[in-house]
Amino acid sequence: MTDTASPALTVSGLVYHHGSIPAVQGLDFTVARGEFFGLLGPNGAGKTTTLALLCGLLQPQGGQIRLDGQPATPRTPAQKRKLGLVPQDFAFYPVLSARDNLVFFARLHGLEGRKLRQRIGFALEIAQLGHRASQPAGEFSGGMKRRLNIAIALLHEPELLILDEPTVGVDAQSRHAILQTLTQLNQAGLTLLYSTHHLEEAHRLCHRVAIMDHGRILALDTPHNLVRRYASGLIEIDLAMPPDPTLLEQLSHRFGVVAVEQHPTRLRLETPQPEAVLPELLQALTTPGASLHRLQWQEPSLETVFLKLTGHQTRD
Ligand code: ATP
Repeated sequence: MTDTASPALTVSGLVYHHGSIPAVQGLDFTVARGEFFGLLGPNGAGKTTTLALLCGLLQPQGGQIRLDGQPATPRTPAQKRKLGLVPQDFAFYPVLSARDNLVFFARLHGLEGRKLRQRIGFALEIAQLGHRASQPAGEFSGGMKRRLNIAIALLHEPELLILDEPTVGVDAQSRHAILQTLTQLNQAGLTLLYSTHHLEEAHRLCHRVAIMDHGRILALDTPHNLVRRYASGLIEIDLAMPPDPTLLEQLSHRFGVVAVEQHPTRLRLETPQPEAVLPELLQALTTPGASLHRLQWQEPSLETVFLKLTGHQTRD
């Protein structure tokens, strides 16, 4: 039975180590019924491990997961039915057609007869694959494969859909189609938890996002509140020669500018008020000899929040 007063998902003190690697180190968050919740983090932050724990593919080594207020370890068949997983990797048979894949997975969920046909019709429609249903899935474009991955996860009518980077490696059109589908599903009542590297996408879609790194949540709020609380603008400059060191001192003193990256002729500056800094900076850098090659700036955004909280260092 569904307890409609409880959050769809409650995670408390969740811990998981891959051998000696602490992938998840005490996560706490809830996802409300009907919420579109985003999990953001750089490579290796622990997102996939978290999603695997939530789906029951890994067993927590500490902490608790609750679905609709009920403990979910071990998981009851009813709890398994509540969840749908769209994994990062394609999880279907490339030699089978889209329809045959859907039939196979629908039968695994125990669907038969009219119900099976109805759910397959819905899945093909939602994935916009009706016209290619008889083609082997291995021949599909990246976007069609992603859409089939989502369609399979929807067959058994889950209440909570968990997606691991559902738009990775697809073109703008397919991405748009996938995001539109997810929005429609959410508006129809489906709760969504998804991990992504697309910060602008998360800002647009998610009611709330959690930013995680090193297995911990660093911030959790609506995108609007996160930007208001943490974001700075970014200014990037390429020069012909290193800038006068007193310039940075002045900017730091007057506008709180921080140089987050500094190679001899390339500067990346962070500032809460780029529009106030730019005129002064332009004036200083367009004097004879300074030779400004390029200047680019970015207003405060979820991306600048993300970089501020997780750093600028690459993780490969
Ligand atoms: P990405 O965005 O690159 O997919 P992620 O945020 O999903 O990264 P995880 O895949 O959960 O991060 O990895 C978290 C940490 O656990 C990383 O240090 C990773 O190397 C490690 N890890 C993940 N899976 C395994 C595994 N099967 N065995 C050993 N270490 C693992």
